[in-house]
Amino acid sequence: MIFLPRPLLKRIVDAAEAAYPEECCGLLVGYNQPPADIVVSRVEVSPNVTEEGANERFEVSPQLRLELMRTLEGGPERVIGHFHSHPDHAAQPSERDLERAWEPELVWLITAVLDGQAIHTTAHVLDSEGCQFREIGLRTSDWQPYPLRPPPFESEDSET
Ligand SMILES: [Zn+2]
Repeated sequence: MIFLPRPLLKRIVDAAEAAYPEECCGLLVGYNQPPADIVVSRVEVSPNVTEEGANERFEVSPQLRLELMRTLEGGPERVIGHFHSHPDHAAQPSERDLERAWEPELVWLITAVLDGQAIHTTAHVLDSEGCQFREIGLRTSDWQPYPLRPPPFESEDSET
Protein backbone atom coordinates (compact mmCIF):
# COMPACT_ATOMS: atom_id res chain seq x y z
CA MET A 1 0.00 0.00 0.00
CA ILE A 2 1.22 3.47 -0.84
CA PHE A 3 -0.10 6.51 1.01
CA LEU A 4 -0.27 9.71 -0.98
CA PRO A 5 -1.57 12.82 0.82
CA ARG A 6 -4.30 14.47 -1.18
CA PRO A 7 -2.40 17.77 -1.78
CA LEU A 8 0.46 15.74 -3.30
CA LEU A 9 -1.93 13.79 -5.50
CA LYS A 10 -3.31 17.14 -6.62
CA ARG A 11 0.20 18.26 -7.64
CA ILE A 12 0.48 15.18 -9.85
CA VAL A 13 -3.00 15.65 -11.29
CA ASP A 14 -2.28 19.34 -12.00
CA ALA A 15 1.01 18.44 -13.72
CA ALA A 16 -0.69 15.72 -15.77
CA GLU A 17 -3.43 18.07 -16.95
CA ALA A 18 -1.01 20.95 -17.65
CA ALA A 19 1.20 18.70 -19.78
CA TYR A 20 -1.68 17.23 -21.82
CA PRO A 21 -1.51 16.07 -24.61
CA GLU A 22 2.07 15.36 -23.62
CA GLU A 23 3.20 13.17 -20.74
CA CYS A 24 4.19 14.77 -17.46
CA CYS A 25 6.69 13.17 -15.13
CA GLY A 26 8.42 13.63 -11.83
CA LEU A 27 9.79 12.01 -8.72
CA LEU A 28 8.19 10.75 -5.53
CA VAL A 29 10.02 11.25 -2.25
CA GLY A 30 8.97 9.32 0.83
CA TYR A 31 9.80 6.66 3.35
CA ASN A 32 8.90 3.10 4.28
CA GLN A 33 6.41 2.43 7.01
CA PRO A 34 6.92 -1.13 8.25
CA PRO A 35 5.93 -3.74 7.56
CA ALA A 36 5.11 -3.01 3.95
CA ASP A 37 3.72 0.45 3.39
CA ILE A 38 5.22 3.43 1.65
CA VAL A 39 4.39 7.02 2.52
CA VAL A 40 4.91 9.77 -0.05
CA SER A 41 6.08 12.98 1.61
CA ARG A 42 7.04 15.07 -1.38
CA VAL A 43 6.34 15.30 -5.11
CA GLU A 44 8.90 16.88 -7.45
CA VAL A 45 7.59 17.72 -10.90
CA SER A 46 10.26 17.29 -13.58
CA PRO A 47 10.46 18.65 -17.09
CA ASN A 48 9.88 15.79 -19.52
CA VAL A 49 13.30 15.63 -21.15
CA THR A 50 12.58 12.82 -23.58
CA GLU A 51 13.75 13.36 -27.14
CA GLU A 52 11.42 10.73 -28.57
CA GLY A 53 8.15 12.66 -28.51
CA ALA A 54 6.68 13.75 -25.19
CA ASN A 55 3.15 12.75 -26.16
CA GLU A 56 4.18 9.08 -25.91
CA ARG A 57 7.35 9.02 -23.84
CA PHE A 58 8.70 10.44 -20.67
CA GLU A 59 12.08 10.89 -19.12
CA VAL A 60 12.69 12.47 -15.74
CA SER A 61 15.48 15.04 -15.70
CA PRO A 62 18.61 13.18 -14.48
CA GLN A 63 19.85 16.46 -13.04
CA LEU A 64 16.73 16.86 -10.91
CA ARG A 65 17.10 13.32 -9.58
CA LEU A 66 20.77 13.85 -8.77
CA GLU A 67 20.09 17.11 -6.95
CA LEU A 68 17.21 15.55 -5.06
CA MET A 69 19.26 12.53 -3.99
CA ARG A 70 21.98 14.86 -2.79
CA THR A 71 19.46 16.88 -0.76
CA LEU A 72 18.02 13.72 0.80
CA GLU A 73 21.33 12.09 1.62
CA GLY A 74 21.60 11.09 5.26
CA GLY A 75 17.95 11.85 5.98
CA PRO A 76 15.00 9.53 6.51
CA GLU A 77 13.50 10.23 3.08
CA ARG A 78 14.54 8.81 -0.26
CA VAL A 79 13.39 8.74 -3.85
CA ILE A 80 10.78 5.98 -3.63
CA GLY A 81 9.50 6.19 -7.17
CA HIS A 82 8.28 8.38 -9.98
CA PHE A 83 5.09 9.35 -11.73
CA HIS A 84 4.07 10.00 -15.31
CA SER A 85 0.85 10.47 -17.20
CA HIS A 86 -0.83 8.55 -20.01
CA PRO A 87 -2.63 11.04 -22.26
CA ASP A 88 -5.75 9.30 -23.61
CA HIS A 89 -4.56 5.90 -22.42
CA ALA A 90 -5.33 3.76 -19.40
CA ALA A 91 -3.48 4.16 -16.10
CA GLN A 92 -1.72 0.85 -16.65
CA PRO A 93 1.96 0.33 -17.42
CA SER A 94 2.62 -0.04 -21.13
CA GLU A 95 5.02 -2.49 -22.72
CA ARG A 96 7.35 0.42 -23.23
CA ASP A 97 7.18 1.16 -19.50
CA LEU A 98 8.11 -2.44 -18.74
CA GLU A 99 11.09 -2.26 -21.09
CA ARG A 100 12.36 0.75 -19.21
CA ALA A 101 11.71 -0.53 -15.69
CA TRP A 102 15.07 -1.63 -14.40
CA GLU A 103 14.87 -0.47 -10.80
CA PRO A 104 12.73 -2.95 -8.87
CA GLU A 105 12.62 -0.81 -5.74
CA LEU A 106 10.81 2.07 -7.43
CA VAL A 107 7.07 2.69 -7.36
CA TRP A 108 5.49 3.69 -10.68
CA LEU A 109 2.54 6.03 -10.37
CA ILE A 110 0.53 6.46 -13.56
CA THR A 111 -2.21 9.02 -14.15
CA ALA A 112 -4.58 8.61 -17.07
CA VAL A 113 -5.66 11.88 -18.69
CA LEU A 114 -8.70 11.87 -20.94
CA ASP A 115 -9.48 14.99 -22.98
CA GLY A 116 -7.25 17.05 -20.70
CA GLN A 117 -8.75 15.81 -17.45
CA ALA A 118 -6.94 13.48 -15.07
CA ILE A 119 -9.34 10.65 -14.36
CA HIS A 120 -7.45 7.78 -12.78
CA THR A 121 -4.21 7.21 -10.89
CA THR A 122 -2.69 3.83 -10.09
CA ALA A 123 0.51 2.58 -8.44
CA HIS A 124 2.70 -0.30 -9.59
CA VAL A 125 5.91 -2.06 -8.65
CA LEU A 126 8.00 -4.59 -10.55
CA ASP A 127 7.58 -8.17 -9.39
CA SER A 128 10.56 -9.94 -7.86
CA GLU A 129 11.68 -11.35 -11.22
CA GLY A 130 11.49 -7.91 -12.76
CA CYS A 131 9.49 -9.15 -15.74
CA GLN A 132 6.07 -7.70 -15.00
CA PHE A 133 4.33 -4.99 -13.03
CA ARG A 134 2.11 -5.63 -10.04
CA GLU A 135 -0.47 -3.06 -9.05
CA ILE A 136 -0.36 -1.97 -5.41
CA GLY A 137 -3.00 -0.18 -3.37
CA LEU A 138 -3.04 3.60 -3.45
CA ARG A 139 -4.65 5.63 -0.68
CA THR A 140 -4.90 9.32 -0.06
CA SER A 141 -4.75 11.09 3.27
CA ASP A 142 -8.49 11.08 3.81
CA TRP A 143 -8.35 7.27 3.70
CA GLN A 144 -10.53 7.03 0.64
CA PRO A 145 -9.32 4.83 -2.16
CA TYR A 146 -8.54 6.97 -5.17
CA PRO A 147 -10.18 7.41 -7.55
CA LEU A 148 -13.82 6.92 -6.74
CA ARG A 149 -14.68 6.99 -10.42
CA PRO A 150 -13.99 3.80 -12.37
CA PRO A 151 -11.59 4.03 -15.30
CA PRO A 152 -13.31 4.36 -18.67
CA PHE A 153 -10.78 2.18 -20.44
CA GLU A 154 -11.34 -1.49 -21.02
CA SER A 155 -8.16 -2.54 -22.76
CA GLU A 156 -4.60 -2.33 -21.52
CA ASP A 157 -2.83 -2.19 -24.85
CA SER A 158 -1.55 1.32 -24.27
CA GLU A 159 1.62 2.21 -26.10
CA THR A 160 2.64 5.11 -23.93
ZN1 LIG B 1 3.75 4.90 -19.39
